[in-house]
Amino acid sequence: MRRCAGCGRRAPQRELLRFAAREGVLVAGRNEPGRGTYTCRSLACFERAAERGQFARVLRQPVRIGPELRRLYTDGGHG
Ligand SMILES: [Zn+2]
Repeated sequence: MRRCAGCGRRAPQRELLRFAAREGVLVAGRNEPGRGTYTCRSLACFERAAERGQFARVLRQPVRIGPELRRLYTDGGHG
């Protein structure tokens, strides 16, 4: 079980999107090395986590959050 950085909901990892920090930039991907952070598949959760600095907190480093990440939530993709 993993915890959403936005709403705090706990869910199986497969239900969540995973992010990690790569050279100070937040990137999505299950196979990105290092510490991961998760959100529900909901843009609201992503926005909330970003606004509150939860990604940086969980990853224990400052991260730049690019607008392209929002597309992960609006394209309706699976997996
Ligand atoms: Zn959530």
